[in-house]
Amino acid sequence: MTAHLLGTGSANAGPDRTTTMIAVEHGDRLVLVDCGGDALQRMEACGLDPLAIDVVILTHEHPDHISGYPLLLEKLWLKGRRDPLPIYGPAATLEKARALFAIFDTLKWAGLPERLYRPVEMRPGAPVTRLGDLGITAAPVEHPVPTIGLRFETRDGVLAYSCDTALSGAVVDLAEGADVLIHEGTGSLPGVHSSPAEAAEVAVRAGARRLVLVHAPVGASDDGLAQARATFAATTWGHDGDRVEI
Ligand SMILES: [Zn+2]
Ligand SMILES: [Zn+2]
Repeated sequence: MTAHLLGTGSANAGPDRTTTMIAVEHGDRLVLVDCGGDALQRMEACGLDPLAIDVVILTHEHPDHISGYPLLLEKLWLKGRRDPLPIYGPAATLEKARALFAIFDTLKWAGLPERLYRPVEMRPGAPVTRLGDLGITAAPVEHPVPTIGLRFETRDGVLAYSCDTALSGAVVDLAEGADVLIHEGTGSLPGVHSSPAEAAEVAVRAGARRLVLVHAPVGASDDGLAQARATFAATTWGHDGDRVEI
């Protein structure tokens, strides 16, 4: 399993990071998580085929996570995708995405792929989908709008993704024994975001093996990283284009 960090920035990141978007690849399976920018351009820059996307997961309704949704559909259509596209996420998020796309007049877009909206239950361990050997589950995390963190599990290992969250026991449970935890490190903001040190605390409590920080603010500092490493040594900042092997 490989997590491609398509983007690693927060909504207020520097010039070298776009918004946080992740593609998870396992064999011939491909999952896109969020599209707060031009997700397909980022996929192609990372050597991935956008037409190979099996499912899209939208974690929550903030613009830095779903504002690129209409563009994603337009580009998939122009590149020739005709198969229906399953889209998973909290019901509130799917409603926003649907409304966002409905702004555009697509009546003349012959062959536009059908959108299959699949709400995810807002409870720990909620099943999202299974793609062969790859099982995906979700849990609500601590953010001002309904938001899900994700757990990707195969025979070979486990990847957990916190999504946007304050320090949360739900992420500890989600990341239990994970080979890699991708956790946001925007900066501590109760009820909203986490600092790198708080992400490191989650990694320790979960018994994760590696921690990769994403959702970086402008000037993500070495100080934050040093504080995280004081708690959990195997911590790095992710950067746009990184491949994280699990
Ligand atoms: Zn958010
Ligand atoms: Zn965000």
